Amino acid sequence: MLSQFQAVGQGLFTQGLVSAQGGNLSVKLGEHLVITHRGSPLGSIQEGDLVQTGITKNSRATPLASTELEVHRCIYKNTSALAVVHAHPPYAVALSFTEEEIVPCDVEGRTLLPRVPILGADIEVKLEELADEIARLIGEHKVILIRGHGSFAVSQLLEEAYYYTVVLERSCRLRYLLKALDVDPGASPI
Ligand SMILES: [Zn+2]
Repeated sequence: MLSQFQAVGQGLFTQGLVSAQGGNLSVKLGEHLVITHRGSPLGSIQEGDLVQTGITKNSRATPLASTELEVHRCIYKNTSALAVVHAHPPYAVALSFTEEEIVPCDVEGRTLLPRVPILGADIEVKLEELADEIARLIGEHKVILIRGHGSFAVSQLLEEAYYYTVVLERSCRLRYLLKALDVDPGASPI
C-alpha cells in the first residue's frame, strides 16, 4: 500500500502535477479509506503521511487527514471507485478558466476521456460545497476539473487514476499549445 502511494505521489510531483504540498491521494478499504496526511509532500510520502479513517465515521486520526477528505468520502459513498487522485495540473487548470469542458484532441485522451466536465461557476466556490456534484459527475466521467483549482480522477486502482490525470494534462497541454499557435484543436489529426 505505501509503495503504491509513493510511486503515484512521486510521479505526480516529478511531472509537475502537484506542488510540494499540494494534491492528495486515497484508496478505499471496505468501510474505511487511507488518505494522505494534511499538507503531506506527495513527492516523498512516508508511512506517517498516510491516515486511515472511516468513510462515514470519524476516528481519532480524522483531523490529520487531507483538507479535501470530505470530497474523497463523498466519492466513495456515491460511486464504485476504489481510488482517488486529486492534483493541480497547470495546463488543465489554465484551460478551466476559459473552457466549459475539456474534449481531448489527441487519440489517447479522446479514447480514455471523451469529455471532462469543468465544475464551479467561479473560483471562490469552496470544494466541500461541490462534493455532491463532483461525486455525481465523476461516476460517469472518471476525471473532472474544478475551475481554477485542479482535477479529481477515480478508478479501481491508484495507478490508473494517476494515469487518467497524466492523460488529461497531456491533452490540455496540447490543446493549450494549439490554441497559442492559432490552430483549431478540432482539426488536429494526432
Ligand atoms: Zn486541491
